[in-house]
Amino acid sequence: MSEVARSITYRLYPNKNQEMKMNHFLDCTRRAYNRLVEICKTRIEHNLGFPSDFDLIRMVTKIRQRNEEMQDVHSGCFHSVAKRVHTAFVRWAKGCKDGAGFPRFKSWKRFDSFKYQINQFSFVGKDGKKGGRERIRLGKIGLLKYRNPYVIKGECKSAVVFRRKIGNHFEWYVSITSVYEGYGKDTTFVDPVFVRKDVGIDLGLENLATLSDGKIIPNDKTYKKKEKSLSKIQRKISECEIDTPDYQKQLSKLTHKYKRVRNHRDDLYHKITRYLSERYSNIYMEELPVKEMVEDSFKGMRKSFSDASWGIFTKLICYKAAEAGNNVVFVNPAYTSQLCSSCGNMVSKDLSVRVHNCPNCGLVISRDENAAINILNRGLRLQTVAGNSLNSHDG
Ligand SMILES: [Zn+2]
Repeated sequence: MSEVARSITYRLYPNKNQEMKMNHFLDCTRRAYNRLVEICKTRIEHNLGFPSDFDLIRMVTKIRQRNEEMQDVHSGCFHSVAKRVHTAFVRWAKGCKDGAGFPRFKSWKRFDSFKYQINQFSFVGKDGKKGGRERIRLGKIGLLKYRNPYVIKGECKSAVVFRRKIGNHFEWYVSITSVYEGYGKDTTFVDPVFVRKDVGIDLGLENLATLSDGKIIPNDKTYKKKEKSLSKIQRKISECEIDTPDYQKQLSKLTHKYKRVRNHRDDLYHKITRYLSERYSNIYMEELPVKEMVEDSFKGMRKSFSDASWGIFTKLICYKAAEAGNNVVFVNPAYTSQLCSSCGNMVSKDLSVRVHNCPNCGLVISRDENAAINILNRGLRLQTVAGNSLNSHDG
């Protein structure tokens, strides 16, 4: 049994007064965020060293004390701001792979969430009493209605309240992270007979995933259609002059569509990742976004959407595998589609070549399946190395 963290997002239905409070929370925490970024920036410029997260929490507490209007905002949300600033600078300092730049000041448009820590929120009944689940209580905001399709397992650790612009209004959500003991291997819900051992997965755009045993999980058609209509509106927007009524209209259309595509994708991913995570005990994947997504010069949202999709897919598969008592292992992605999975010969091909045809050993196989087998082989080699070093420690 291992500890599993999982997040579930609920739609919130605040009343007018609560929405005003939530906007006030956003405004105050955003100002505190910007103030902390400013302080850190000055310290870095003067070579004074970077404050620890403990220092940042002390600073943010002082900022709150000095501002009358910040008193209505829960102190826990300010502590979370301190952590957020710390994380942003750490990521920048590490020169993260995901290209995290120097933390920037956030405008009203770009600051959309605040966070509660454990015990600063709870599920309660309509009357606010313990034991019920009809309302969620957020510290210093009150009892909120929410849409409640899933029940959370385990102990709730944090709650991130965020808003999304849909057309010309906002929708509010809360994402709750809980921690619980995952299922052991012996209690998985899939008949153990069907659990295969190892699989390599190659993620792509053409097909969502290709497995090393030859199975293909296609991108479904509705999803493709929806994605297409998305890029159509994007094209229209790029033709509009910025900030004209027509531009606003198209933009609002786009956010609506975008939400629907995203929901559809998430739904699909939940099903697929559950299927995979329950059927394979060791899942091997590449540790960076798929080459094709990076190499292909998709523009704007299209590209960021693919990137985001990759992140969501890996996140889902990781926690679902952990729940089922299975493993996900990430391997080095270099040349997985170029190397021959049978003889190791380098067969260079550009993106348009969908078939791997090895002149050395004569293997003819789809490009993606070849990559998936390479990923599997790399994963198996990693496991062997890890196994050997474990054994040598034992001996
Ligand atoms: Zn070959």
